[in-house]
Amino acid sequence: MTTSSLEVSGVELRYGTFQALKGIDLSLDSGQFLALLGPSGCGKTSLLRSIAGFERPQAGAIEVDGKDMMPLRPRERNLGMVFQHYALFPHLTALGNVAFGLKCRGTPRAELADRATMALDLVGLSHLADRRPRQLSGGQQQRVALARALVIEPNLLLLDEPLGALDRKLRIEMQTELRRIQQRLGVTAVFVTHDQEEAMAMADKIAIMRDGVIEQVGGPQDIFAAPASHWAAEFIGSGNLVCGALRPNGKGGLDLDGVPGVDLSVSEQAATGRLQSDGRGTLFVRAEKLTLTAQNEDAVPGTARVTSQRYLGVHYEVHVETAVGPVRALVAPESASQLEVGRPVTVSAAPEQIHLLPLPDKETT
Ligand code: ATP
Repeated sequence: MTTSSLEVSGVELRYGTFQALKGIDLSLDSGQFLALLGPSGCGKTSLLRSIAGFERPQAGAIEVDGKDMMPLRPRERNLGMVFQHYALFPHLTALGNVAFGLKCRGTPRAELADRATMALDLVGLSHLADRRPRQLSGGQQQRVALARALVIEPNLLLLDEPLGALDRKLRIEMQTELRRIQQRLGVTAVFVTHDQEEAMAMADKIAIMRDGVIEQVGGPQDIFAAPASHWAAEFIGSGNLVCGALRPNGKGGLDLDGVPGVDLSVSEQAATGRLQSDGRGTLFVRAEKLTLTAQNEDAVPGTARVTSQRYLGVHYEVHVETAVGPVRALVAPESASQLEVGRPVTVSAAPEQIHLLPLPDKETT
């Protein structure tokens, strides 16, 4: 299997007067798995279709292994595609469906069956080679579609919500399976999804898209822990945004000031260029990184207080009202017993878990 790098630069795509892609830059090393993640209508499919050659961007460049793709038609790009709806030919067997792409490429007859059988084997379906699509389950049909995309030994594998039609259990199984196959072959893959968990579970790299632009690119853990903007933080969800004045604490850091019961600080270095002229900023902390410490009833007026708690199995989810708005924490059951509703608390987190977001005027609007 060949494995290729992908370089997308300055890609713009308009449908009539509507601009769906507004200057996309992306780069992917060979063998990497990229998830394009974003809300409905942000341009994920448009970008994938542009890479595949089904859309013709008005500006920008797309290169695979340094080779310009723009002049090439989809077939000439040697890319494998898998869609949400499997698009299998109903009258062909599983083997026939997989062999079809090879046949179109003029592969000698003698090779067809062998290569198609190997591809079906790879997705664990060689025993069902003679079945037609209607005799296969959704997951099995999607495996056939994957085998059909892989049999041509594509330079890139492009997947558009391939697991979207499967039920949750099967979807999770297929996530693992797909990733295993991709890693085993070392094929470079671009995967469209609007499911954050799916992107986190599968990808080496995630590009979050918003309104035709890429809002942030990074490894799953970076994106989860340190969103690059207010919008990305809200999109990824389950984190807290705490907005307030930050004042030097004389120890090389800045403390959130004047919020009783909220003890959050960042290093001065992390704050460079991220504070408004009045010294205010927005802190981001994930719910599971917050520590809640119960205080006595004689805590200062206006201090943070627990407003609700709920058992979620592994954690308790505890909501706290503070002078700068509500925060949500996930705490271990042994800590939750002291955090009854109405209890004053101190909300804190380790400095490395607290991220000061860039100023909104630096964000894409
Ligand atoms: P979803 O998750 O819902 O599939 P998406 O992020 O993949 O969405 P796209 O399908 O790329 O988004 O669409 C991006 C924008 O371009 C949307 O506003 C869509 O309405 C518009 N669009 C897509 N295809 C066309 C087309 N052929 N003509 C006009 N507008 C289009």
